[in-house]
Amino acid sequence: MIARRVVVKLGSGVLSAGKDRLDPAVIRRLAGEIAASWGKDFEMIVVSSGAILAGREKLGLKVRPATIQLKQAAAAVGQSRLMRAWEEGFGRRRRTVAQVLLTRDDLRHRNRYLNARNTIFALLRLGAVPIINENDTVADEEIKFGDNDVLSALVAGLCDAQLLVLLTDQDGLYTADPRLDPQARLIPTVGEGHAQARLGRAGPSGSGGMESKVRAARMAASAGIEGVIANGFTPGNLARILAGEPVGTRFLPRTAPMGKRQAWLAFASHPKGAIHVDAGARQALVGAGKSLLPSGVKSVAKTFAAGDVVSLVEGGVEFARGLCNYGSEDLQRIKGLKTSQIEQVLGQKPADEIVHRDNMAVL
Ligand code: GLU
Repeated sequence: MIARRVVVKLGSGVLSAGKDRLDPAVIRRLAGEIAASWGKDFEMIVVSSGAILAGREKLGLKVRPATIQLKQAAAAVGQSRLMRAWEEGFGRRRRTVAQVLLTRDDLRHRNRYLNARNTIFALLRLGAVPIINENDTVADEEIKFGDNDVLSALVAGLCDAQLLVLLTDQDGLYTADPRLDPQARLIPTVGEGHAQARLGRAGPSGSGGMESKVRAARMAASAGIEGVIANGFTPGNLARILAGEPVGTRFLPRTAPMGKRQAWLAFASHPKGAIHVDAGARQALVGAGKSLLPSGVKSVAKTFAAGDVVSLVEGGVEFARGLCNYGSEDLQRIKGLKTSQIEQVLGQKPADEIVHRDNMAVL
């Protein structure tokens, strides 16, 4: 049997046990549980927050750093302390740890994406636990994941994981905020049919909130990866989840998941421009699974080159992303035309399609 690859995401709230500093006892316990799960059946990848928290403690900052610079400085101080805690925790189980720091920019570029993937695979073959965090020192608003929940979903896709476990300070997703509403019930399973609206009323949990955990689990599910949101404070929860027991909230993977390329396009890519289409073209693309032809292009926004990722927009809403076979200048000249007219206008025809179906992800 091929080992199932599992990404475990741990937020600062869990790693600090709700206090103002990392809690080495919690990290030791979690490292023990993760190491114990790694065997012939499972390979484990960790996404760990906690750098800012650890840096804050060392720098003696009483309150959460408010400015980006202070957060980045605290993360720079704290990242090595965070890794030391993991190293110590896994060392007891004779597991080597490896620090992997990523920004969104690293995953937007396909070659860097593949490099990160290959490095993580090499680490797994060596039996080392990749401990992944956002590279806070360089990440500005433009290239930030936003929070480690989103990062963990992208990492799960990056590494072909089968399971994403988001361990947090709550038992899972509730029908309402359990701290405010005594009627709130835990939702054991979320399938494809569940409305987004119903999942919004979940109450805070960690830096990205419960909402961002739900978003991450849904991103993973649409790429065919099962997601679980569960309580990281309950010892043994990870083993129970891996054994398939009903713990927390389980997000069922989509039965017809996006391909790897589609998932990258949908979640990790960065559109350089946009192509506006009309409702008819949208219907052909989304409903009938067609490629985008020049006749469907209404207008072109921003400057991009052939091979760049573009947003497909209708009525002001981005509904798909794809790799565009034409640069924006050429596209301006052939928009609205028939495919048979492309060569006449441009002197060449690199492709019939503006965006081929296989290079498109419907959002
Ligand atoms: N990368 C941040 C840290 O290590 C945490 C981001 C998050 O928790 O979402 O402190």
